[in-house]
Amino acid sequence: MSSLKVLNDEISNCTKCPRLNAWRKEGAIKKRKSYQDHHYWARPVPGFGVSNPKLLVVGLAPGAHGANRTGRIFTGDRSGDWLYRAMHKAGFANQAASIDLKDGLKLNDARVLTAVRCAPPDNKPTTIERDNCSYWLEKEWKLIKKDLHCVIALGSFAWQETIKLLTSDGFEAIKKIPKFKHEASALFQKKKQKILLIASYHPSQQNTFTKRLTEPMFDRVFTLAKRQIANS
Ligand code: SF4
Repeated sequence: MSSLKVLNDEISNCTKCPRLNAWRKEGAIKKRKSYQDHHYWARPVPGFGVSNPKLLVVGLAPGAHGANRTGRIFTGDRSGDWLYRAMHKAGFANQAASIDLKDGLKLNDARVLTAVRCAPPDNKPTTIERDNCSYWLEKEWKLIKKDLHCVIALGSFAWQETIKLLTSDGFEAIKKIPKFKHEASALFQKKKQKILLIASYHPSQQNTFTKRLTEPMFDRVFTLAKRQIANS
């Protein structure tokens, strides 16, 4: 079994955070009306994609009735529709649809994960839960970082967590790191490896319904990532 497969299994069985442990199971009991006949995953959700990505996409946490239901990150909810549609347009996914584990979705040169692996109430993990889960983020990072050229952080939480991750691993920002805003970016370097961190507003309904994030804005972030990879 590959180390990443072992890690995914370990993550899926983690019970370190009592509140989140209870919440993800509660979500599976109090199912949404439209998913009454679905069997919910109701466990931590591991990363998805290739094991040696050039692009890493970091989100906040699984959706209560999306990834917490389907068992694959950003799958089965509107945020996932936005994410994989944009990745498909940029050539990072073989299809736009992300419905469930059997939909045939495959990523090209890319991996998607969340900083916290369990669905939290109101999408707000506590600082203790965040810190508990950074253990898994660091472990996964060590396994997949070798060929990375770009990280897209979806939302300010993911932006902060990725900066922490990069700096704790010895990467240094070449210039002053800007504040989080859509399309903000920072180039990090460690020895010969350079990684461009790009910020994007999260494709949550809160942002997409209000047009804070539009489809062209989101597509542009993936075009920037593509350009960075092509020039690396
Ligand atoms: S949030 Fe992370 S550390 Fe906490 S129970 Fe879930 S997988 Fe484990």
